[in-house]
Amino acid sequence: MIEPLEQLRSTLQDHGQSLTRPRKKVFTTLQAKGPLTMAELIQASGTSLDRASVYRTIKLYEQLGIVQRLQIGWKYRVELSNSFQHHHHHMYCTQCGNVIAMPEDTVLEERLQALAANISFSAQDHQIEIRGICANCSRT
Ligand SMILES: [Zn+2]
Ligand SMILES: [Zn+2]
Repeated sequence: MIEPLEQLRSTLQDHGQSLTRPRKKVFTTLQAKGPLTMAELIQASGTSLDRASVYRTIKLYEQLGIVQRLQIGWKYRVELSNSFQHHHHHMYCTQCGNVIAMPEDTVLEERLQALAANISFSAQDHQIEIRGICANCSRT
């Protein structure tokens, strides 16, 4: 498997772009912290990055398929696309707003493919969001 940062560098290079420090920072922040709202991403990227450059980077990353948007709750979040991390589903806590990745399940994935294929639909991608209350919130 190729090192994600190397893959990022070559994806950018293929489109005549270089891996600048802000671009690297946005990528590694998403790698470490999973799906984030733009506000969370700007905060997590640290003070060295301004709002505008985070927005510019995300716009470029969306165009190049490096990140994808998730509609979770009432705000969209961005996360690395399936080319850069394993496919997974999300659980969204309606109380604290936390987003938790669901463990992969090959039976479920095959089942979804089969259901789509049954009606002659060739599925390329999907997102699944389960809403509810997380373990932390149900404890209190
Ligand atoms: Zn919660
Ligand atoms: Zn899936």
